[in-house]
Amino acid sequence: MHFSRFPRVHLAHLPTALEPMDRLSKALGGPRIWIKRDDCTGMSTGGNKTRKLEFLMAEASAQGADLVMTQGATQSNHARQTAAFAARMGMACHILLEDRTGFKDPNYNNNGNVFLNYLHGATAEMRPGGLDMNAEMEAVAETFRANGRSVYTIPGGGSNATGALGYANAAMEIVQQANAMGLRIDRIVHATGSAGTQAGLVVGLKAINANIPLLGIGVRAPKPTQEENVYNLAIATAEKLGCPGVVSRDDIVANTDYVGEGYGIPTPECLQAIEMFARLEGVLLDPVYSGKGAAGLIDLTRKGEFSHDENVVFLHTGGAAALFGYTHAFGDDTSIMQAAE
Ligand SMILES: *Cc1c(COP(=O)(O)O)cnc(C)c1O
Repeated sequence: MHFSRFPRVHLAHLPTALEPMDRLSKALGGPRIWIKRDDCTGMSTGGNKTRKLEFLMAEASAQGADLVMTQGATQSNHARQTAAFAARMGMACHILLEDRTGFKDPNYNNNGNVFLNYLHGATAEMRPGGLDMNAEMEAVAETFRANGRSVYTIPGGGSNATGALGYANAAMEIVQQANAMGLRIDRIVHATGSAGTQAGLVVGLKAINANIPLLGIGVRAPKPTQEENVYNLAIATAEKLGCPGVVSRDDIVANTDYVGEGYGIPTPECLQAIEMFARLEGVLLDPVYSGKGAAGLIDLTRKGEFSHDENVVFLHTGGAAALFGYTHAFGDDTSIMQAAE
């Protein structure tokens, strides 16, 4: 895999740290759990979209775009990071936000990522839930083009073969780091949504023959849909990288038991995971993705899914900026963890 063949803006802070979480590991009494700090990739509080946007925004720039558009849910981290990249690269940014939850809380609708979008100078418009948001975005892009703008559109989550290159590269980074540390990784666990992270990782891991199983914890779609989305994107990504056929269908595993009521609606287990990471490790998770990913990791550990001598790496995909849009979910109860112990 030779990533320098693709346009890329080097704005991410890489490599991100790979560290043990010994207090969490001890509290759970399972495997040794490590954390890969992709919440610290830089660009407006960081997160997994930074690695994807390095390739996407370079393509936008190469195509001479003066306006970049993307879409996501109200508290989209991807939208906020795209707004930051556009600011850094001197492009305008216009965002379409989908109301997937119907939450009326003012913080949800104006604070967190929404606040940061505006701070970065992006403009935004809302859509009700359930529309084909990529189609909505393309329609708006056409109106900008009719007015002479050169528009580059990025699909939701930055999840196409270009964006997924960022995570194929991350796979190489993780394995190199582990080799330098003498760390044998037995499993990588992370939250999976629009599929680019898992698709890129699986292609990277397979292409370098790392032999590390990957487990995506779903945050939205049912298992068959999620795995199919990841598989299709992995095929496209492998082709783009010049290694077609490296990924087979059984390499794609998503566990969607931790979605709860739906996308963006925190479960009690998710809130508990957020408090555990905050109090045991000083690490901030988010209520939409990494909190649900961690809830899956915690529950599977308690159920004995991982053996004691395993090293499990939790890829922290970021998202803590959304916490400020979700203060209502925590209510007055700051003792969720104690109650659960
Ligand atoms: C987008 C996002 C994910 C999911 O990554 P995908 O590539 O969309 O599957 C996970 N965590 C956070 C914080 C995100 O913003």
